[in-house]
Amino acid sequence: MKLLISNIIAGLDASPGELRQQAAKRLQIKLENISDFKIVKQSIDARKKPGIRLVYSVSCQVDHSVRISGTKDVKILEEVEEEAILPGSKPVDGRPLIIGTGPAGLFCGLVLAQYGYRPIVLERGRQVEERSKAVEDYWKTGKLDTETNVQFGEGGAGTFSDGKLTTRINDRRCEKVLEEFCSFGAPEEMSYKAKPHIGTDNLKKVVANMRKEIERLGGTVLFNTKAAEVTIRNGRICGVVTCSGEAIETNVVVLAIGHSARDTFQMLYDRGVPFQQKPFSIGVRIEHPQELINYAQYGEASGHPALGAADYQLFLKGTQRTAYSFCMCPGGIVVASASEPQSIVTNGMSEFSRSRENANSALVVSVGPADFGTLHPLGGIEFQRKWERLAFAAGGSNNSAPVQRLEDFMDSRTGGLGSVRPSYTGETRCADINLCLPPYVTDCMKQAIPYFDRKLKGFGLKDALLTGVETRTSSPVRIPRNEQLECIGIEGLYPCGEGAGYAGGIVSAAVDGIKVAEQIVRTYRL
Ligand code: FAD
Repeated sequence: MKLLISNIIAGLDASPGELRQQAAKRLQIKLENISDFKIVKQSIDARKKPGIRLVYSVSCQVDHSVRISGTKDVKILEEVEEEAILPGSKPVDGRPLIIGTGPAGLFCGLVLAQYGYRPIVLERGRQVEERSKAVEDYWKTGKLDTETNVQFGEGGAGTFSDGKLTTRINDRRCEKVLEEFCSFGAPEEMSYKAKPHIGTDNLKKVVANMRKEIERLGGTVLFNTKAAEVTIRNGRICGVVTCSGEAIETNVVVLAIGHSARDTFQMLYDRGVPFQQKPFSIGVRIEHPQELINYAQYGEASGHPALGAADYQLFLKGTQRTAYSFCMCPGGIVVASASEPQSIVTNGMSEFSRSRENANSALVVSVGPADFGTLHPLGGIEFQRKWERLAFAAGGSNNSAPVQRLEDFMDSRTGGLGSVRPSYTGETRCADINLCLPPYVTDCMKQAIPYFDRKLKGFGLKDALLTGVETRTSSPVRIPRNEQLECIGIEGLYPCGEGAGYAGGIVSAAVDGIKVAEQIVRTYRL
């Protein structure tokens, strides 16, 4: 029988052999009577410093005669039969078409291809290798390609990211996402670390391998191919016209376009697709020396290879707004992430090694429809744009990002750089970031920073560096959908992933892509 043994506590230097010994001891059996030993989960317990420990769950195979009743933290792992998804009866006119190759579009495409539906996947940006060059070029010269950038291109918004694969959603499909990532080349530890992170270096390989698999299974992936128009007749989707004028007829279209496809949102709105305003958050990226964060979290044990670069998560819930850290990138860099000219947008990225000098994180405050100053369903986009353009102006209108020491930000004055050097991928200019964000956001940040400093010693470092502005934390819109996951009022159109308002992050977007694919299989016949 297969067992799950949890709460195995080990020191930072414990080997798999020691874990196996602990498992045998817990079961009161000999080591050789354990087979198929596997680490299922590993987390860090840093509550007591010194004395940081690793906590494991492991699975193993043992003989049926082993008695486990009364043994603490041991249970039998039942084989769960996956419920088969049976194809539906509606015909697909043409082939199912997916717009976007972010995690939502890629996973939707992969699952449809695995079921034999031979999807067509359109991506406005370039393939990942060429995309990397375009992004590097933007970072070096400030010359933005509006179709291929940090938001657009193969792999979607997260390709240049830390690749944190954590999520707050509780869905059985999360496991499939991590398994598929590993099968396409992600390091095996993704499947068991409590806070897995794949890194941009691995992610680039993984998304290319996923695309090749979709193609191998009969799907088609077209790059440099923006969906420029959708054709909707009598409440039904009938097809898509690409940027080169080619009309693709189909009655199944998945909109996995991400949160930054503002032109596509506008086009869909103009064609009658319903939109709703949605809250999100805005703020800055904040950088600290990674060593400071390591020490605050791990004390004397910081630097131990089993711990890696430390992360943090902070929030302060006020009566009206919440200030919080978001998308933290240990040992990473701050990346220029705009998708429109004359705007500055920040985000964070790291490689699997997380070995850079600075830790960076978004420090953001929640905003919502009441702040947008309009009832227009796309009002949140205009709101984002306003602060992105102000940041561009504050940086000197030459693509430099405004940066400011934390102490200067607190005092609303422009000073110089301190000990924390900007890791930003483009040029920077010292400016007052208070001028690039609404006062209710900066006030909330100023209240939160001393509190965060009490929670994480050193967070309030005077030289910590702020880079403005972070505006693309999640989608500013939602496209409402019914129980069958179709857009309300438009048969065959499936809003999916983060841009449509159904996900926040790589894993949840991927899960939504799988959900939509499963629904398409249930509805349409092969
Ligand atoms: P996207 O990934 O945005 O993909 C949408 C795709 O659609 C894009 O490739 C776009 O080019 C394409 N598209 C848009 N319009 C059209 C059109 N008209 N025709 C054809 N194609 C179109 N999340 C995490 O969980 N962990 C992280 O560490 C993390 N770090 C991040 C770092 C950065 C720099 C960024 C930008 C994001 C990060 N995120 C992270 C967020 C994560 O990337 C997104 O949540 C996720 O990618 C959303 O997936 P999606 O498939 O819904 O949309």
